[in-house]
Amino acid sequence: MIQIIFAIRSLFISSMLLGMIIVTSMNMQKVTATTNTHTMNVIGAPNQSAAAGNNIEMTYSTLAKKLNVITSVSPITNIVKNVGGEKIELSGLVPEGVNSHTFELVPSDVVKVNDADLVIIDGLGLETNVEDVVDEAHNTKPNLQILKLGDNTITPDQYIYDFSFPKETGDPNPHLWLNVAYAMKFANLTRDKLMDIDPANADYYGENTDRYITKLNDLDQGIMHAVQSVPEQNRKLLTYHDSWAYFAPRYGMVVIGAVQPSDFGQPTPREVAKLIDQIKAENVPAIFGSEVFPTEVVDQIAKEANVKIVSTLSDDDLPGDAGEPQNSYVGMMLENMKNMLVPLGGNVSALSNVSPEDTYSSN
Ligand SMILES: [Zn+2]
Repeated sequence: MIQIIFAIRSLFISSMLLGMIIVTSMNMQKVTATTNTHTMNVIGAPNQSAAAGNNIEMTYSTLAKKLNVITSVSPITNIVKNVGGEKIELSGLVPEGVNSHTFELVPSDVVKVNDADLVIIDGLGLETNVEDVVDEAHNTKPNLQILKLGDNTITPDQYIYDFSFPKETGDPNPHLWLNVAYAMKFANLTRDKLMDIDPANADYYGENTDRYITKLNDLDQGIMHAVQSVPEQNRKLLTYHDSWAYFAPRYGMVVIGAVQPSDFGQPTPREVAKLIDQIKAENVPAIFGSEVFPTEVVDQIAKEANVKIVSTLSDDDLPGDAGEPQNSYVGMMLENMKNMLVPLGGNVSALSNVSPEDTYSSN
């Protein structure tokens, strides 16, 4: 009987669609959608005489319904976009320029999560509010899937706890994606999940990912070489926001400190004084702020320690406007390297052949 059903599926796709419309409009039969198998069961469709009384499976693509995917921060949204391409409906929950560590969901976000087939987040405690909404949604929608990229990329022994993410507060530093090798893992995990729940488009996801990984590999190697152009004694990062913990060890840099306390408030005058002493002792030429966090305190530190301040490093805010090539993960990393390595005395010529042009931008 299974073979008969599959034969019917391939022969009567359009008539099945028609059958569904009839079923729905006449309200005679039961139509159920399940998200874990991503198939739609049409029970006893009236024009399927050979299969009457049996379940007929149809994939999402057969129904021309795209997989509905919700993500959190912009770089992750863009990585997912580069895997899912045109075959998924994608929406990110954290608006550009909003602090991803303290963002709050609005009611329309809850609706989005409830309508989703798959929610993809960083995890590692970054988006606990999204996890709460998914938990709630599971009451009525048990098949809603959640993929925590970070949790599946590193193991607890690889977690980094540091200045703004001390072990005693519980969650490790979540900024995995600034290490391009981890971004590649994010892309592969996304590909595997999309292939799993939407097998009809598996080839498409696979090809997109292969192309994207090639690009990320060029980016990764380019950053490795570009960092080498920075004098060794300057390969130190002191940032306002503590987001370079996984970047630094991969590319031969050292995070010497972060200004932002673990509660994301303002540092105390005592902490500021300590940082100024440290910058003087380490003799770094520049320290770094961030677009989404206040810079007054960084300005003060830079002035008193007599170092340059660069205020444009970004961990979750994509440069450029929606639709522009640089409004992408690759674009963000290239912009970051320019803003980080040049003030430290290096250059980015090793990255001159890496372009975000042939990747998907955010929109
Ligand atoms: Zn961050």
